[in-house]
Order: sequence, then structure tokens, then C-alpha cells
Amino acid sequence: MLDVCLLGTSGMLPLPGRWLTSLMTRYNGSSLMIDCGEGTQIAVKQKGWSFNPIDVICFTHYHADHISGLPGLLLTIGNSDRKKPLTLVGPKGLGRVVSSLRVIAPELPFELKLIELTNQQEHLSICGYEIDAFRVNHAVICYGYSISIPRIGKFDVEKAKELGIPCSMWNKLQHGTAVTIDDKEYTPDMVMGAARKGLKVTYCTDSRPVQIISDNAKESDLFICEGMYGEDGKELRQRNISI
Ligand SMILES: [Zn+2]
Repeated sequence: MLDVCLLGTSGMLPLPGRWLTSLMTRYNGSSLMIDCGEGTQIAVKQKGWSFNPIDVICFTHYHADHISGLPGLLLTIGNSDRKKPLTLVGPKGLGRVVSSLRVIAPELPFELKLIELTNQQEHLSICGYEIDAFRVNHAVICYGYSISIPRIGKFDVEKAKELGIPCSMWNKLQHGTAVTIDDKEYTPDMVMGAARKGLKVTYCTDSRPVQIISDNAKESDLFICEGMYGEDGKELRQRNISI
């Protein structure tokens, strides 16, 4: 199951009970974040989710209300004893923006890996996430993201038994590794079914309605499209969804 939380949906000004833009997902012990406005740490804490498993943070663009929470968040992740590298993804200029913010968060106990987006559409595979970044239309360079989590096929127990593969070897095959028994090689495709439909979440914010959004949102299990100028009384504060 994939948990998705819109930690904040406010624009420009964090309000009591309504934080600036940030989305966080949790899946299988890993977390991913999109944008990190001022106050995001408080929203994570309110939600009761952990800082340590955040493996990837994607930025849509570099307006302050989408990124100014980063230095404090990095320090908190450091205090949570994270040692594994953390990957940051964002439009061109990511290195410059992050090193400026790092002036006030210079020492971190983990490595930061930076991926700058330069094309209209880019695909990345990071920490088990298949990420499609697509450039949308805002006053500054801005990207939307589709996050997909693929699901492998079902393990065919009967087939494995039929082939005489001992149970102790099943785990390796389920994780994509071939095994050799009595000089005969057994490959995962011999016992794994066809890949099952994974989960896909598409997120975009601050953009004019452009075709590339609907192209990328196609077949999403969840599509989140934030707009700045909505109708009064229809603001979303914090929402948790599981798919
Ligand atoms: Zn903006």
C-alpha cells in the first residue's frame, strides 16, 4: 500500500493549520517528498511520520514557498541518524539553489545526490521509484512529477515445485536473481508471472493548464493538481490518502 499525504497546500504564506506546499509518500519503508515549503517539518511531525526514511525529494520549482523548508529539514534528517545518501531532483539551477541554502546547514552526516532536470520530459529510476518529470508552464521553470512504483509478477509456486527448485532458492528468484542447481540454471522468468499493474501518483502545481499535464497524468491512480486561485471555502488543508 502507498500512503500519500498532502502536508501543505497553502500558497506564499504558511497559515496556522495550513502549511506551505509539500507532498510526502510512504511505501515499503521508504519515503519520497515533493516540494518542501516553510513549516514542512511541523506538518511531518503533526502527521507523525518519520524523517529518517526520506530517500528522495523532488522540487517543482524554486519559489520560496516550495523550497525554503529544505535547510531545516536536512538538519532534522541528519539528527534522525540517517547515513544513507538522499537524492534531490529539480529543475536546472538545483546545485546553485541547494548550495546557497546549505550555507545554513553545512554539516550533514549523509551524502546529497543532486539530479538537475534539463529536458521537457525526463525519466529517472531512483530507490525503486520510476519518476517522470515533465515541464509545465509557470513564471519560472517548473516541473510536474509522476511517481510510479512497479510491481513484479506473482511467484508461481506450482511451477517452482514442478521444476524441482528447493524452497531455499525461491527468495533469490523472487528478487530477480538466477540460481544454479546441479549445473542447471533457473532464471526468474521461469517462475515469475507477468508484471502486475503498479501504482502511479501524478502531482503538479502552479502551472497553467497545458497538454503535457494530462499526457503524464494518464492512467494515474491518483492525480493531484493544485491551483492557486480556487473558489473560497474549497481549500484543502492536510489530506491523507492510501492507494
Ligand atoms: Zn510558484
